[in-house]
Amino acid sequence: MLPNSIAVLIAALNKLPGVGPRSAERMALHLVQSDSAAVRQLADAILLAREKIQFCATCGALTEKSPCPICDDSRRDASLVCVVERAVDILSIEKSNAFRGKFHVLGGRISPLDGVEPEDLRIAELEKRLAHESIREIVIALATDVEGDATSAYLAKRLARPNLKISRIAYGLPAGSGLEFADELTLSRALEGRREMKGQ
Ligand SMILES: [Zn+2]
Repeated sequence: MLPNSIAVLIAALNKLPGVGPRSAERMALHLVQSDSAAVRQLADAILLAREKIQFCATCGALTEKSPCPICDDSRRDASLVCVVERAVDILSIEKSNAFRGKFHVLGGRISPLDGVEPEDLRIAELEKRLAHESIREIVIALATDVEGDATSAYLAKRLARPNLKISRIAYGLPAGSGLEFADELTLSRALEGRREMKGQ
């Protein structure tokens, strides 16, 4: 069988998202036969990224400095805040080039079966922003599945305030999938076609 150190490496790689046992084995066998300088470079890049990256204290994006460049960008429309599930969803929306406002990362969606309750999400942080920033519209950009729908409805109710519009991006996104599977055109159309949600 394989030497123990290779088995340990395979097990570690196998824990990464999207890496099955076969890919993990291929990567491990490639790495142990590579130039050791190249392997060190990869290991250093992983460590450095992990040490430098933090969550933006305002929006929850992944960033090297907090507040992040988007929160810090005065040319962006601060009255418009797009609510996404995960930090990576910001990248999908930025790629579509259809949104010039700011963001707020929830960190998940309400899912009682998985033990995710509203207080596990960054909703209180969003309420704090509503109190301190002059936000006119919240654009909810959550996946169009059961949990995404339930979380959007919950948010529309909890965030309802006078003079605040709450909208949700239009359907047309692949059902049951995250924003990363939507192409840029679909996403920009979904943003343009967003519909107002009524809180009550
Ligand atoms: Zn930010």
